[in-house]
Amino acid sequence: MNTIYDLAAVEQFRRQYRVDPHQLKRLRYQYFRGGRSQSQAYRELPEPVRWAFRQAISLDRLKLTRRIDSATDGATRLLFRTPGQQTVESVILRAPEGRTSMCVSSQVGCAARCTFCASGYVRPVTDLDAIEIVDQVAQANQLLIAENRRVRNVVFMGMGEPFHNENQVTRAARMLHNDDWFGLSARRTMVSTVGIPEAMLRWSGSFPRSPLAISLHTVDQRLRESLMPIAQRYPLPLLRDAMQRMAVAGSPSLLIEYLLLRGINDSLAQADALVRYLDGLPVHVNLIPYNPIAAAPHLRSTPRPQREAFGARLRERGLTVTIRYSQGRDIAAACGQLAAGTAG
Ligand code: SAH
Repeated sequence: MNTIYDLAAVEQFRRQYRVDPHQLKRLRYQYFRGGRSQSQAYRELPEPVRWAFRQAISLDRLKLTRRIDSATDGATRLLFRTPGQQTVESVILRAPEGRTSMCVSSQVGCAARCTFCASGYVRPVTDLDAIEIVDQVAQANQLLIAENRRVRNVVFMGMGEPFHNENQVTRAARMLHNDDWFGLSARRTMVSTVGIPEAMLRWSGSFPRSPLAISLHTVDQRLRESLMPIAQRYPLPLLRDAMQRMAVAGSPSLLIEYLLLRGINDSLAQADALVRYLDGLPVHVNLIPYNPIAAAPHLRSTPRPQREAFGARLRERGLTVTIRYSQGRDIAAACGQLAAGTAG
């Protein structure tokens, strides 16, 4: 069946049934921006063609197969099936103050193979197309209607390395920002990357207002290669150079993600090295706790007091730091735990 995203099919239907283009526009507006349900959105069409339209054109592309709500915090894990029969995961994150964010996947599996991340162990790796990416958001909105919420922030931090699927992620971001589709503010969509310098520069050129997150995790090249094999291709000086160039171009806010692994990258000397590496860059540092995964039993999370001491050291040296506490751990929906239904 065709979907609302198949513009040629929608146009063909419109001509055949002589539908007023404004009515279709309103349908899209109600569904993507107004957060209306599918059946409410279909009501924008006149009665006689409504039924035919429902038969010919669906509003979604993925099939929602499971919804798992956290018992301990505001996270919900969603599992979808693609037309190619693959499982895609996304996570809804509800902030206590009312904001709703969504963490979307850009691939099934991930070729970056970071040792600490469950997605890196999933094979084969497949790219999602732009519609499979944005439909995760549309369908989350459908569920959130019941709570009077809508997705406000979208982070590309689910499965996959967004810059390994750059074209489709770029298309998806354009649809999210486009007023005819989701109309989300560019400031509220963020890509997170293992750090691919040339793609980072392209991205910040295309989306100058969108923040970018870089998964740094250590500034020791050898250690980084052992945790993130992809670091061999993109050495730390190149990464720093890209950040510097983005900063000079006045581009988006840069977020440094630093996963704290007990006894591996969490000493105060390593905090000082991080300060030196970031010196002169306008960045914000996010310290993230490690969420244990079955595939890496040797890795442990840095205990909270040491995480706080690490953060305090960075602050003393002038960095702005947020110490994060993961949501969704009980349902295997936290950072690094998404593995297409196989983990947790
Ligand atoms: N591929 C992208 C986006 C996906 S992961 C990237 O690497 O940035 C989003 C964040 O979760 C990254 O910073 C990643 O390093 C982190 N992460 C991965 N595994 C984790 C784990 N087990 N515990 C906590 N964070 C993890």
